[in-house]
Amino acid sequence: MTSAGRFAPSPSGELHVGNLRTAILAWLFARSTGRRFLLRVEDLDRARAGAEAVQLRDLAAVGITWDGEVVRQTSRGPIYAEAINRLQAAGLTYECFCTRREIQEAPSAPHAPQGAYPGTCRNLDRAELDYKRSTRPAAIRLRADVDDYTVQDVMHGTFTGVVDDFVLRRNDGVTAYNLAVVVDDAAQGIDQVVRGDDLLPSTPRQAYLASLLNIPVPEYVHVPLVVNRDGVRLAKRDGAVTLADLGQAGVTAREVRNLLLESLGLPAGTLDQALHALDPAQLPREPWVWPGMERPPAG
Ligand SMILES: [Zn+2]
Repeated sequence: MTSAGRFAPSPSGELHVGNLRTAILAWLFARSTGRRFLLRVEDLDRARAGAEAVQLRDLAAVGITWDGEVVRQTSRGPIYAEAINRLQAAGLTYECFCTRREIQEAPSAPHAPQGAYPGTCRNLDRAELDYKRSTRPAAIRLRADVDDYTVQDVMHGTFTGVVDDFVLRRNDGVTAYNLAVVVDDAAQGIDQVVRGDDLLPSTPRQAYLASLLNIPVPEYVHVPLVVNRDGVRLAKRDGAVTLADLGQAGVTAREVRNLLLESLGLPAGTLDQALHALDPAQLPREPWVWPGMERPPAG
């Protein structure tokens, strides 16, 4: 299998300019290194009817091309189950019956990092397990034997982050993001992961999981987000931030693409033209404040 990069949106609504900027970067990184570029729809959770088609249309509108069929996570249940079974067979999982509230209220282990699972269900005896199984469905957690893990990132260099006994399958049966993303990237031959740097903190968990599954760890490139004027990650409530909204305000997809390229220090024009100007060392390291593009109504 040849190497590949990817963009993997959740079809929970329309893409905004921050998502499009990350997609453009993922495309530029993949194409400039001779990789294929794949699209994966991460629809295990929060999928909204019709959103996928609109997202694909908007990606195409800013010039993004992709190879092969779009893959949907909801069609991949068996390969996630197979990975969880392998971990289970190796003694690397356990059942967890905790509610969110119980986890919040549990005393955390000494020196445990903020937000880490406190290990309540790690060593239940047979009787406790039988009782808890009769009360509610179990989530499946990873039995991690490290507290942290280190990854290499093109933008951030060496990054060490928390690894706790994170969830692999939720108690409603839905595969957890960290498991799905690792299994999917491997199955699709993806060896370069370009995505927003809000996902950097969970990357050590994914790289550690990959190591347990004997999956090669991809090259990571965590790129800065687009933020609003308050420095908060851009969201729909920040005005006209989707191609549809901007289109209504008289702004074309080409104009949006040019502004996004310029925000990256790249020349306005086609993505192919920007390809030759991409130099990872020169990319901005800071979040970009969305300036808005609405035009005042004519007349
Ligand atoms: Zn538990």
